[in-house]
Amino acid sequence: MSTPAKVIRLDRDPRAGANGEIYVRSDASHLPFADRVFSAVISNHSLEHFDDLDGSLREIGRVIKPDGALFVSVPDSSTLTDHLYRWLSRGGGHVNAFTSSKALADKIEAETGLRHAASRTLCSSLCFLNRYNSPKPRPHRLLLLGGGFELSLLLYVLLSRRIDALLHLRTSIYGWALYFGKIPEMPDTEVYSNVCVRCGSGSPASVLRATFLRRILWLRLYQCPSCGALNPFLDRGSAVTLPYTNKPMVTI
Ligand SMILES: [Zn+2]
Repeated sequence: MSTPAKVIRLDRDPRAGANGEIYVRSDASHLPFADRVFSAVISNHSLEHFDDLDGSLREIGRVIKPDGALFVSVPDSSTLTDHLYRWLSRGGGHVNAFTSSKALADKIEAETGLRHAASRTLCSSLCFLNRYNSPKPRPHRLLLLGGGFELSLLLYVLLSRRIDALLHLRTSIYGWALYFGKIPEMPDTEVYSNVCVRCGSGSPASVLRATFLRRILWLRLYQCPSCGALNPFLDRGSAVTLPYTNKPMVTI
């Protein structure tokens, strides 16, 4: 994470601190912090793994400042993406299944005391299948899902968006991002269709079109601003900003 903010990472099995980051070993349901000390809490693809979900949410509500902000992202357990993930990794540690962003937002509001400010739908690139990201040795089941080659993921991105547009399905959906508390600047809630097949970063079409677009024969590709991988360009989406600077944050 590149930010001037002071960031504390929390995990039950943290890696050695790198790049000056602070890692804390703890369970999310028993945070080793005083009350109301963090300006922001980021729970990125985490809640689906928490054994004590309600207790963890109450702890988040305890450590965050009254004027703080909370970001949560989770998979929609009813989607093709989450089914594939759990099948490939034999559960993948997902112990909580979310099928309604409204129900989850209501629960988070009730447990943390933070007001729900905004939601956005997240698209998938199946980047967890990418050979760069899959665990070693690679699961045999990966062979049945295209082998994790970026060309097969690229085809998934193209086909899933087209199928969803034509048949009103949700094969391209991953889950949701939810925003709570006092958000300094309201996030854009438009769906980003352009999601990198290697790092999973979503990008607004307007930014990609202006700077990162490449043309190879009849194909429109973009180079991911985060990792440099080539992806198919889909002409949809817009920008989002979350300007946190010089404020203590915790990522769980
Ligand atoms: Zn990328």
